[in-house]
Amino acid sequence: MKKLKTLVGPILAAAIIFLLFVQIRRPRFFNSGCREVMGTFAQITIAAKNKQQAADFFAQGFGQFEKVQRLMNDRDPNSELSRLGADAVGKPVSVSPELFDVLQASVHYSQMTDGAFDITVGPLTQLWRKTQQTGQLPCDERLAEAKEKIGYQKIQLDPLAKTIQLEQDGMKLDLGGIAKGYAVDMAIQTLRQNGVSSGMVDLGGNIRCFGAGPGRGGAWLIGVQDPRNDEKIILTLRLNDMAAATSGDYRRVAVVNGKPYSHIINPKTAQSVSELSGVTVIAASAMQADALSTAVSVLGKEKGLELLKSLPDVHAVLIAADENAAPVFTENAKNFILRQN
Ligand code: ADP
Ligand code: MG
Repeated sequence: MKKLKTLVGPILAAAIIFLLFVQIRRPRFFNSGCREVMGTFAQITIAAKNKQQAADFFAQGFGQFEKVQRLMNDRDPNSELSRLGADAVGKPVSVSPELFDVLQASVHYSQMTDGAFDITVGPLTQLWRKTQQTGQLPCDERLAEAKEKIGYQKIQLDPLAKTIQLEQDGMKLDLGGIAKGYAVDMAIQTLRQNGVSSGMVDLGGNIRCFGAGPGRGGAWLIGVQDPRNDEKIILTLRLNDMAAATSGDYRRVAVVNGKPYSHIINPKTAQSVSELSGVTVIAASAMQADALSTAVSVLGKEKGLELLKSLPDVHAVLIAADENAAPVFTENAKNFILRQN
């Protein structure tokens, strides 16, 4: 009896060690969750010990998307961005730190792209959205009127006070070309802070991966759709610890007289862009990839490649609207391409 008692301790200890070993050795499962948010489809894939843990992580990640939407959706009259609207004309208005960060980054990308990326494009995007409803192109007079209100130089930001001031009546900010990328970065930050070791976050084609993926050698593999044919994957990217964003006429504003019109507007001409039908930008952050994919869509092939040449850590694949044209790659983009179909 005494002998048995002395054995209880070591047996218990062995059992605990065995259980711990099983727990550590147990393969981490990749779980995926989907949601409709920010006017698009979102997917989060993460490594988790079990379904319950995965569900908790999904709630944290999707929660970030919902937060960004509440702050930055220009279509929601109650978002912080919309409420800012007229109030900020001629006087500084305080904004949340998150919105301030995105506004500041937006102005930075405007400067970098010589205004090809410009969040003051709101009056123009509003006009072009009407085309989707009515099937009629905006008239020149209206476009000229809206163009008067465009210009990132008319945004005044105070980084210390975290305020914004707009210089002209009728200005309208549109964060549609950057907020999704920012939301992906925020979701990843939260997941990592909560101990997730690897995952992939995709918000409407704004994708970022971290840690080891489920593919061979821990790869994260991402397919890029042919913008001219939804059913075809033209490229498979290996995207470990990188982000990629695709802009293009996948989501058209409208088709008028058989011609597709993109939802990306050239702020200088007030026209919807048409030279490139798809631009995939690969960069360290999803926000950078998002803003630059929109910017390169505006700049077109020649000027877009010129800009990308000055950014050695940013890579891109440009697909022309012309069905016969082959994709164009920046110098090091091929390092991320696993397969080209
Ligand atoms: P998606 O919204 O399909 O992911 P993008 O990231 O390219 O595509 O963003 C397009 C959105 O960006 C438009 O719907 C509009 O809200 C906004 N936008 C359009 N033109 C510009 C521009 N020149 N600069 C900044 N944002 C723009
Ligand atoms: Mg974008």
